[in-house]
Amino acid sequence: MTGPDLRLPDKPYLAAPGTADPTSNHIDGAWRAAAQGGTRDVLDPYDASVLTVVSEGAAADAEAAIAAARAAFDRGEWSRRPAAERGAILGRIADLLQRDRAEIALMESLDTGKTLEEGGIDVDDVTAVFRYYAGLADKDAGRVVASSEGVFSRVVYEPVGVCAMITPWNYPLLQLSWKMAPAIAAGNTMVVKPSEITPVTTCKLFELCAEAGVPAGVANLVLGTGAEVGAALVEHRDVDLVSFTGGLATGQRIMAAAAATVKKVALELGGKNPNIVFPDVDLDTAVDYAMIAAFFHSGQVCSAGARLVVHEDIHDEFVAELCRRAERVRLGCGRHEGVQCGPLVSAEHRAKVEAAVARGIEEGATLAAGGRRPDEPELANGFFYRPTVFTGCRGDMDIVQTEVFGPVVTVETFRTEDEAIAIGNETDYGLSGAVWTDDVGRGERVAAGLRHGTVWINDFGPYVPGAEWGGFKRSGVGRELGHAGLDEYREAKHIYRNLAPEPQRWFD
Ligand code: NAD
Repeated sequence: MTGPDLRLPDKPYLAAPGTADPTSNHIDGAWRAAAQGGTRDVLDPYDASVLTVVSEGAAADAEAAIAAARAAFDRGEWSRRPAAERGAILGRIADLLQRDRAEIALMESLDTGKTLEEGGIDVDDVTAVFRYYAGLADKDAGRVVASSEGVFSRVVYEPVGVCAMITPWNYPLLQLSWKMAPAIAAGNTMVVKPSEITPVTTCKLFELCAEAGVPAGVANLVLGTGAEVGAALVEHRDVDLVSFTGGLATGQRIMAAAAATVKKVALELGGKNPNIVFPDVDLDTAVDYAMIAAFFHSGQVCSAGARLVVHEDIHDEFVAELCRRAERVRLGCGRHEGVQCGPLVSAEHRAKVEAAVARGIEEGATLAAGGRRPDEPELANGFFYRPTVFTGCRGDMDIVQTEVFGPVVTVETFRTEDEAIAIGNETDYGLSGAVWTDDVGRGERVAAGLRHGTVWINDFGPYVPGAEWGGFKRSGVGRELGHAGLDEYREAKHIYRNLAPEPQRWFD
């Protein structure tokens, strides 16, 4: 499957397997080895081979990166730079992302297992995010506030300061763009820590940032584990904000740790997202989207439609068609023509998915499709798992409530509109949900009733950079994208000027 053009490109930050001397941390404008010489093998999830060796930083590297970011912020040149200039840098990053689109798509495919096509879609999405914040950077500097006569009162926006950004492995570049682009637009400095198992495209983005003119010290990168580097960032008193995307348990830990220094915290956590189907829709289309909702990127999507809620009148026909299509999904290497789904990201993650499926069977859900690794011998070394459908599910089951983050969908039924809304809200999460119906009024009523940060009507999955993304309930704190996504990285300062001060004689 490999060819010269299907391997990772030669980069200073990626060492060839076996020749480990990587310099993958980017601190104060330079690529650096980890202070204690740590390294990590990065695996190709397709066949578990070693793709590259990268630096594995530790607390000392986090400390150095924070010091660089703090100094760059405190110098003030970056935050005082005209916002239009920072916007222009973001625009250049967008151009460079498109210039290197094929290379980045390949890197993301090799590192995460996703298909080349998905990798390309990611690059386009990331480009759109940088372009959006390039445009927004200088559009809204503050406002004049109504106040009494003789007073000039205004609110101006300033950057928060040093921001730590901790990202997951499912969309390494995309999730980072939602943080970095608005943080740069607002004039912050930052330290980024990607998931230790998928660091490759994050390194590439740092290469592009330097080329686009992001000054030394403004954006810093430290690779390493969450327990070591992530925790050091969250606990450090010189970090003003932590923006995290990842699992609920990690988010809870980060929120608690950030309390010690009263950092601002933005959390994008998991979801268990309902996909509600009324009987008046075109079944072929609804099943097609249900497949995408549940199995795109092998279900390793925070907004995956892992909880299918189907009207009882169409349940049998819907499920039969869903299972038929699930059984014929073509798994394989993300670089091969015709492959629809790559592997899961790691052996450890597949073990978690398998444990969740075993629990589902134990608690009485009916395994209607999948529930196993593929049979093809050429997939035996990779971390593959077949698309899996559980029927006969109830809201009190663990398989229905707990995020599996794999290619597993549960099916429940409903009779009335109210029941559909109640089931859709019967979760601690609140990230996203969808309703399928040809009745415009019903679609709007269900969308209004669902307590989720994004609701799709007759669709599943798309987001747009101008619309806020984030979770109700335990799916998170704060918003990314849109204007609110920029506000996460700004402090509002009220400046009140008395135009004609006179003695008040209050204490005379
Ligand atoms: P994870 O929580 O295991 O790890 C995420 C990041 O946190 C990694 O970089 C990890 O190294 C770091 N980390 C781990 N422990 C830490 C600690 N104690 N302190 C600081 N950092 C720490 O999540 P994951 O398995 O990489 O990603 C999957 C999860 O991410 C899923 O739950 C998914 O729903 C969620 N996710 C959410 C969104 C969203 O927009 N809401 C998007 C993508 C993924």
